[in-house]
Amino acid sequence: MPSQRTLTIVIAAYNEEAVLPEMHQRLSSVLDGVDAESQVLYVDDGSRDGTWAVLEALAAADPRVRLVRLARNFGKELALTAGLDRVHTDAALVLDADGQDPPELIPAFVAKWREGFDVVYGTRTRRDGETWLKRFTAAGFYRVMQRLSQTPIPPDTGDFRLMSRPVLDALRTLRERQRFMKGLFTWVGFRQVSLPYERAPRLAGGSKFNYWKLWNLAIEGITSFSTVPLRVATYLGLFSALAAFVWGVFIVLRTLVWDDPVQGWPSLMTVVLFLGGLQLVALGIIGEYLGRLYLEAKQRPLYLVADERKGDRCL
Ligand code: UDP
Ligand code: MG
Repeated sequence: MPSQRTLTIVIAAYNEEAVLPEMHQRLSSVLDGVDAESQVLYVDDGSRDGTWAVLEALAAADPRVRLVRLARNFGKELALTAGLDRVHTDAALVLDADGQDPPELIPAFVAKWREGFDVVYGTRTRRDGETWLKRFTAAGFYRVMQRLSQTPIPPDTGDFRLMSRPVLDALRTLRERQRFMKGLFTWVGFRQVSLPYERAPRLAGGSKFNYWKLWNLAIEGITSFSTVPLRVATYLGLFSALAAFVWGVFIVLRTLVWDDPVQGWPSLMTVVLFLGGLQLVALGIIGEYLGRLYLEAKQRPLYLVADERKGDRCL
């Protein structure tokens, strides 16, 4: 049995000055009651507001706080990667800064971990304070992912999860640049268990994800974990080629046998435009994957760190 003593809470924060003090208050009172030696690692994802100053104040007051500041806004996935890369404890637990993932549940996560699970992931049973459109699009995304990907991503699962040392070590070997953390978390395997919880509304401020960002995240997720769209393009092409062949034979026969006079400009235009559109879509799909290859090939670092602090009681 590997050691299960120490725990790091990893929190990515982007422009969260309004929520962090209350969040840390709640968090530290929960951690006082947790039966594990714990610390909190905040990753400032290049915030433009006073987030870093707020974090410095928290660190000055609490020796269990550790800080990392990224050189710019790299996005939540990379901010979490930066945090998880720095965890040396027996487990890490990822939490949103805005209080939507209630820290009061941490003891329940730890209990499951002690039962012997390597990954404990929170599953949302309710999404308060989110519009029907967000719920609808989120549900649609999980359905599509379920269909397309070989590593089924559990639906309604965010980044709220606890991971044991072996899982953290495994994650650290996945250095792809285009990161879709929910997928990577699942891909590594190990003994995983779901912990249902009710997702609370944000404490303050607005969501940092608009629909365009979410759409891009969805494309990221699909293209990182599935090549099915490429195959769909192939089948579409095959299907339309077959249909065109059958129709071509028909036209030839009609001209030869029934001596049909030339006609059909509208149908010609329809077919030309339709096939042109299909080709562009297929090219676009190929382009998506090619672009990802290009980004991987450059071998840039995943993120850049501008500043780091470590409290006296950090592990
Ligand atoms: N976040 C981040 N970098 C970003 C966007 C968001 O680190 O570029 C953090 C944010 O501070 C929060 C978490 O990711 O802790 C979730 O963001 P948010 O609450 O805006 O997303 P939602 O809950 O609406 O999906
Ligand atoms: Mg949120």
